[in-house]
Amino acid sequence: MATSAADIIDSMSGSPLAEVLRELQRQQGFLGEEALELLARQRRASLTQVYAVAASFPGLVFDEKAERARPGLPEADEPDFFSRVVEPEAAAVLTRGPLAARFEDPPADLEAYRRSGGLEALARAREIKPEQVLSEVVLGKITRNTAGWQRAATALEPPVIVANACAGDPVAGQAQKLLAADAWAVLEGMFIASLALGAERGFVYVDPGSAERCRSLASVAKAMMEAWEPGFRVEVFCGPRSLVGSEESAVLAAIEGRRPLAGKASEEELSLWGGPVLVDGVEVFAAITAVLASGERVDTRLYQVSGAVVERPGIVEATPSVTVRELMETAGAEAGAEALLGGLSGVFLTEGELDQAVGELETADNPRWRTVHVLRDRRDIYPIAVQSAAYNAAGLCGYCVPCRIGSARMAEMLEHYPLDVQALEQVAALVVKTGICSAGRGAAGMVASALKHIV
Ligand code: SF4
Repeated sequence: MATSAADIIDSMSGSPLAEVLRELQRQQGFLGEEALELLARQRRASLTQVYAVAASFPGLVFDEKAERARPGLPEADEPDFFSRVVEPEAAAVLTRGPLAARFEDPPADLEAYRRSGGLEALARAREIKPEQVLSEVVLGKITRNTAGWQRAATALEPPVIVANACAGDPVAGQAQKLLAADAWAVLEGMFIASLALGAERGFVYVDPGSAERCRSLASVAKAMMEAWEPGFRVEVFCGPRSLVGSEESAVLAAIEGRRPLAGKASEEELSLWGGPVLVDGVEVFAAITAVLASGERVDTRLYQVSGAVVERPGIVEATPSVTVRELMETAGAEAGAEALLGGLSGVFLTEGELDQAVGELETADNPRWRTVHVLRDRRDIYPIAVQSAAYNAAGLCGYCVPCRIGSARMAEMLEHYPLDVQALEQVAALVVKTGICSAGRGAAGMVASALKHIV
């Protein structure tokens, strides 16, 4: 007689969760909803955490009922922290520089783009040598990913260019805003990069979002290819929803048709189908266009400010010397408010810490801290940390063991108040030290940062 799920769970009460899940799968052929609920009760874990662990292991499958009941990532319209984040397309532009120059009046088609000065940068790039585009424009006036560009430029085969617009983080929408408002400039920057690197193929990698968004982007790409016929083909790739979507290795895995895992330790190992690749943010490609069009250096970045106590949530274009307080004030944040800088893998800042420049707060682990989510006061830190940790536990890729287990464990421990602070600090420190990618380490760093303020 077949063993029931309850018997398997009971008989393995001392075994690691992953082993029980594998045994259930082996004996039953799938993971059922009732078994997962039973397991969650026995382990005193939330159902989200059990699903998160199960989803982390390749080969484990949910039956239809369990798949339907699977807790998803919070949707934007849920009455929680994430619902206070403004949708990228609707985000107002609060201050504008070279990157957001066309945001107010996005070109409707190629002709409108030309009338607004579009394609002049590409024409200039064709007049100068590819080495000059690389050294004077890209490396001289914009990017910090210099090693990646140099590797791509010296590769033996033409590299594939990937412009990444996937933030992975529900709080960060500026890359999507840039694509929605001025995809032309991003695409023009990719064409210029193809001249500099001798590339023949490129991808714009975007969040799943709406099919409409992908279609309109694809039509921009098509119009650019028809206009210039430079032998460079661009495809729009709608990636799966993933918290590690901003990690280059996860982006490349998804394009290759694999599950997005952020597992590569070294940038030098990055490749696409075994060949050379250059991955950079869409903002960098828009900046390439702006530099060649104006001849000026582009030092600005797009920052997003959101939160319940913000009068004008939206996008601010500023240099990294801007302080967190200045960003908050531009968006009309209430006096006395505090902030989460960097979203789900960021840090909490109290009122007294807001006068620091955003650029100085960026670390090697968090080179892209471009979001400020404004809190009412210190009381918001604990609930936001709980929600963010649960979101991270369900959404991180699960490639490495400390982060896979640690993120689920931190989410579970944060739900039990009073907190076991010492144990939480230990788990967070372990993941910060051993996690392979910045998304996992940053998620643990967010928990460590919250602990400093809530205990
Ligand atoms: S640290 Fe976390 S998110 Fe990063 S590779 Fe490891 S499991 Fe994935």
